[in-house]
Amino acid sequence: GLSDKLQETFKKLKGKGILKEADVNEAMREVRVALLEADVNFKVVKDFVAKVKERCIGQDVLESLSPAQQVIKIVHEEMIDLMGGATGKILVAPKPPTVILLLGLQGAGKTTHAAKLANMLKKQGKHPLLVACDIYRPAAIKQLEVLGEQIKVPVFSMGQEPPADIALASLKHAYQNGQDVVIIDTAGRLHINEELMDELRAIKTTVKPHEILLVVDAMTGQDAVNVAESFHKEIGLDGVILTKLDGDTRGGAALSIKAVTGCTIKFAGTGEKMDALEPFHPDRMASRILGMGDVLTLIEKAQESFDQKKAKEMEQKLRKQEFTLDDFLDQMQQMKKMGPLSSLLEMIPGVGKQLKDVKIDEKDTAHIEAIIRSMTLEERRKPALIKDSRKKRIAKGSGTSVQEVGRLLKQFEQMQKMMKQLTGSGAMGMLGMGKK
Ligand code: GDP
Ligand code: MG
Repeated sequence: GLSDKLQETFKKLKGKGILKEADVNEAMREVRVALLEADVNFKVVKDFVAKVKERCIGQDVLESLSPAQQVIKIVHEEMIDLMGGATGKILVAPKPPTVILLLGLQGAGKTTHAAKLANMLKKQGKHPLLVACDIYRPAAIKQLEVLGEQIKVPVFSMGQEPPADIALASLKHAYQNGQDVVIIDTAGRLHINEELMDELRAIKTTVKPHEILLVVDAMTGQDAVNVAESFHKEIGLDGVILTKLDGDTRGGAALSIKAVTGCTIKFAGTGEKMDALEPFHPDRMASRILGMGDVLTLIEKAQESFDQKKAKEMEQKLRKQEFTLDDFLDQMQQMKKMGPLSSLLEMIPGVGKQLKDVKIDEKDTAHIEAIIRSMTLEERRKPALIKDSRKKRIAKGSGTSVQEVGRLLKQFEQMQKMMKQLTGSGAMGMLGMGKK
């Protein structure tokens, strides 16, 4: 994929003392090929490479960085610039309800993302209403109803009535029922055609949405960009939801959409589940494309629920690899606030694959706590001490079994391994968080 290619290119620069123009030219040639292969728009690639090259040669030389790091930094910054803009915000109408219109081609993820958005807004304290305006397939209404049921958000439908009529009626319904956000799910087509555009225009003029969001599938690469361009021209877009980023390894759509259409990507869909929706962060996307994993997301998530001081301590320990069972316990309790441990660790490059062995059931935390509390301080620091007789004692003391104690120790060992990988990985190093 793109990340591998770019990393290879950067690796070649690593040996170099000072960046010479020839080195930069060679690296940029490779970057260009890698971007084109990743299905980034041709013109975008051309401008991008020219800009990066210009910055690499001569200016922007930071003494604290190696040549390779310098190039990575510049590429990273220019990628952010390419995708930049405000993200993840829905415009709130001064007078409710706020009306959000989702549109896009068939299969892009409109229905799924209508529900995901509703779910997200609900968690923010809003009272959303989902509106079924895909009238062509009975299954489409049913699909929205099933999702609505799942996230406990009401769904408004009127069968096969004209979509603009349904949309209008839904506003009244929302107003009468105290729903402050209306999310309209529309029908798509396999390709853009006049019938679709007319239908969407009719809805738009009838309900005057505050946000018109295009839902596009990242896996379709340049097609996604072309689709965005057409919809923007025909209907006028306020933003884009880029879906299926979990499956897209190329990054072409993400890198091109803003540059080509001028529309910002507001949200990213990263899976089929209802919580797989994130504000789109150009900086993180750039990191992901550069193969730095999503360490930034990880850090931000950690900061949300860790208090700063704790995080600092933890970071120190990670660096020195002094992570003990006490910390493990502490960490686990923090994780409960942060969401599943696995989703957090998956973001670290190279760690995701190993996760299948380390499923920590959140329900187990009470047992784990009991087990660790039954250990001596020395045992918590040096779990290697815990052989059979100690295991028995701990199991007894904690009201668990020897097997459970064994399992916990194994999990801890695996976690330690991952932590080592985390601190040793290039990603952390690039962020200045690696071992010093
Ligand atoms: P619509 O035709 O635009 O309404 O598309 P749907 O919402 O019905 O989605 C089409 C398919 O894509 C469904 O199987 C969804 O589960 C799947 N899907 C939607 N969004 C995502 C995403 O972000 N990631 C993945 N992996 N699948 C998605
Ligand atoms: Mg649909």
